Amino acid sequence: MAPTSSPKKEKRDYYDVLGIPRSASADEIKRAFRQMAKKYHPDLNPNNKEAEEKFKEVNEAHDVLSDPSKRERYDQFGFAGVDPSHGMDGSGFGGFDADDMFGFGDIFSSFFGGGRRGGRRGGRPQHRQGSDVEMDLQLEFEEAVFGVEKEIPVRRRVPDDVCNGTGAEPGTKPETCSTCGGSGQVARTTRTPFGIMQQITGCSACNGRGQTIKKKCAHCKGTGVVTEIDKISLKIPPGFPDEGVVIPVEGKGNMEEAGSIPGDLRLNVTVATNPVFTRDGKHLVRELAVDYLQLLLGDEVSVATLDGKSVKMRVPAGTKPGTMLRIEGHGVPVFRDKLNRRGDLFLSLTVDVPKVKEMDAGERQSYEDLARKYLDRIHEKFARQEREIQAQQEEKRR
Ligand SMILES: [Zn+2]
Ligand SMILES: [Zn+2]
Repeated sequence: MAPTSSPKKEKRDYYDVLGIPRSASADEIKRAFRQMAKKYHPDLNPNNKEAEEKFKEVNEAHDVLSDPSKRERYDQFGFAGVDPSHGMDGSGFGGFDADDMFGFGDIFSSFFGGGRRGGRRGGRPQHRQGSDVEMDLQLEFEEAVFGVEKEIPVRRRVPDDVCNGTGAEPGTKPETCSTCGGSGQVARTTRTPFGIMQQITGCSACNGRGQTIKKKCAHCKGTGVVTEIDKISLKIPPGFPDEGVVIPVEGKGNMEEAGSIPGDLRLNVTVATNPVFTRDGKHLVRELAVDYLQLLLGDEVSVATLDGKSVKMRVPAGTKPGTMLRIEGHGVPVFRDKLNRRGDLFLSLTVDVPKVKEMDAGERQSYEDLARKYLDRIHEKFARQEREIQAQQEEKRR
């Protein structure tokens, strides 16, 4: 399905804009920016629309690529990563392919950059545009990671079908207002010391509509508008960014007049947390509690993943608590990645100390045997370590 909005302007990749490779250093970015900015500077290109656009483009690219955290998000999520709120005015999500991403091209076309605001509004100014509907949408943690298709109910105002949005009872028609003759405006003439003044005001008899309704439509009480619950199909792609994304859904806002252009629906997306897994972009992190014996001697363990699978992995002997172990490819699918790559799952190791109360007599005995055998050596090592630190601090305090 092709997007239905006005011809969309493809947003160019920021690296292409500056003519640098993706591996460019901060210095290279700065140099390329200076060169390009000079070339397209409005002072040097008066009345050159193309140069003006290029200059804006160059500035935007520099703004993102010169900021390490923005650059990282851009590398990972594209335009959606750097300023999702931009999507609201149709410029932030440029370059997305609607079909690719959501499969609901008509609904999402504005998500991908057509300057709908400018385009449609500017293109057909004779129609009033309906107001936007804003809604919060909370995704489950797994929904954002793996993607989901869902139907969401949206409350929006639309023209009443019963009276075709006229507000007049079916079978009757709104009549031309006799006060203003249908213009919706009346001229008032007043005599002042400076002469005769004429003032144009809205007609109060018809509220400026130019028409009066004798018999009001019972369904909409004469307003011509009803509130309906519309089901919107939404396809969230895997690896959906988990912070601050606003999805503009074109044409699913309010439509207060028959024949007018509906406003947009804006979904403020938040993502719920998971009690075990946390997300860091394309990577997942979870804590893995192991027994101290497993750390000490090493072990092979089966670890649960977010997919609900179990993955075997080796804890090497002598691993320290706090160590991060990596399970490749069990993280978050990379957003919009044609190669279907996934991030990694990181396991942050913590140590479980055995509880004496839960030990049977034999187990407790073996720990006590160990202690008897090695505690002296352990104490010595501990004391040596603390003496060193103490001596260092004592030295510094002199
Ligand atoms: Zn009137
Ligand atoms: Zn009605």
